Amino acid sequence: MRLSQIKLAGFKSFVDPTTIDLPGQIVGVVGPNGCGKSNVIDALRWVLGESRASALRGESMQDVIFNGSARRKPVARASVELIFDNQSGKAGGQWASYAEISIKRVLLRNGDSSYYINSQKVRRRDITDIFLGTGLGARAYAIIEQGMISRIIEAKPEELRIFLEEAAGVSKYRERRRETAQR
Ligand code: ATP
Ligand code: MG
Repeated sequence: MRLSQIKLAGFKSFVDPTTIDLPGQIVGVVGPNGCGKSNVIDALRWVLGESRASALRGESMQDVIFNGSARRKPVARASVELIFDNQSGKAGGQWASYAEISIKRVLLRNGDSSYYINSQKVRRRDITDIFLGTGLGARAYAIIEQGMISRIIEAKPEELRIFLEEAAGVSKYRERRRETAQR
């Protein structure tokens, strides 16, 4: 699966609906301080299910909703959608046959949060399920943030093992086994 588009609306500084095309294998995002580069990465992590406001540089989850500026009123909802090219059919389970896979999250000011895969309402864990074992996920290693390299270098063996299992694609099976054992 290849991420081909990010669509944002009402998310942090992206108040108006914005589509970011990612045409190649390498895309650079440049711009002056405060223009919203890191907000794009926050959006990625958020739509993948991040539930810690602190990881998104906020105090509460509602802080991701555009909260107004000198010229604009705050808005009522934030949404982020990722479009993945799935021509390779790498997505697992019921989504394998779709050429394109859309992952979307919407949050309202009252705290209601919903997730969608190809416009079908799903649970948060359906989103994490798709990406488990791919390295992409709210807390996986596909997003390397400031300080993460040193965290990996200094990680305890148990923590390092989590990264290795994700890279080896084992974490998916470990999670399934854990769930089965709970039933
Ligand atoms: P730098 O180069 O300094 O890292 P950056 O391009 O990464 O900058 P961001 O951190 O992505 O910048 O964006 C910061 C901007 O986003 C600030 O101007 C901040 O006011 C705005 N912002 C963040 N959250 C919201 C929100 N909920 N509503 C409106 N604006 C917001
Ligand atoms: Mg930044």
